Amino acid sequence: MEKQLLVIFSLAFTLLQAQEKPVIDVQDVTRIETTLASDKMQGRKIFTAGIDSASVFIENEFKQIGLEYYDKLKSYKQEFTVGSNAANNVIGVLTGKTKPNEYVVFSAHYDHLGTITKGKDKVYNGANDDASGTTAVIALAKYFKALNNNERTIIFVAFTGEEVGGFGSEYFTNNIEADKVVAMFNIEMIGTESKWKKNSAYITGFEKSDFGVILQNNLKGSDFKFYEDPYPQEQLFYRSDNARLAAVGVPAHTISTSKMDQELNYHQLSDEISTLDLENMTQIIKAIAISSASIVKGIDTPTRVAKLKQ
Ligand SMILES: [Zn+2]
Repeated sequence: MEKQLLVIFSLAFTLLQAQEKPVIDVQDVTRIETTLASDKMQGRKIFTAGIDSASVFIENEFKQIGLEYYDKLKSYKQEFTVGSNAANNVIGVLTGKTKPNEYVVFSAHYDHLGTITKGKDKVYNGANDDASGTTAVIALAKYFKALNNNERTIIFVAFTGEEVGGFGSEYFTNNIEADKVVAMFNIEMIGTESKWKKNSAYITGFEKSDFGVILQNNLKGSDFKFYEDPYPQEQLFYRSDNARLAAVGVPAHTISTSKMDQELNYHQLSDEISTLDLENMTQIIKAIAISSASIVKGIDTPTRVAKLKQ
């Protein structure tokens, strides 16, 4: 074979290989999810050693990815107190290339319910709630770092205290200029198939802004479909960490696959990694990445949510 041709062939082969190894892959998703949901993390309850080890793990992931610190923080930890107890969110940033003062937030809560003292299984692993969302936030951080073309600043947040009233998202909301937050993708329980089966999810508070329509447009031509929340009676829009930012006008919505009428492991000891579909979960994370593209690039700006009167 001619040398030049050989070079071209091997280059093409390398490109093909590069395409075959996507940034968001099931092995990495499995590694992160398995760690967060392990018994070692003791159910990640706020104010415990278990959640501290989860925080350290997420901080290390952010460091390895090469995220920046948020605002004036000196680490990835956003620390605060509740009464006399210390708690922290974990935050990493990719500064926008041309619109650094416009923020897109990807978030999930890394806390869960902790342990019980009696019985064979003592740990609320919270594999779906919300180790799955936290895994997505880390995987998306890696993805956007690799793309390296975000025009807007992306803020990746793992919130604490969601299960006990949303302390983490409350503190975060009180310490950010809400007007600068263009959109929030909060991710909750994406580890099981949605009611429409694979490659699909829903968006809470769909009618409150045009966030959902923008996401749907970005998914046109892909294998994925996002729907309006089919469980309006559950009031999911007000039951996760998006609610605090939404209350001050941010198009802050939660993306989930959870079948709220038949999710038997919800808030049970049985919310274990063995109940998750990690392949589908990986696909959902890809879908979230694709759905957010025009917002991250600064092309689309969702309409604001009506503020809650104080
Ligand atoms: Zn949750």
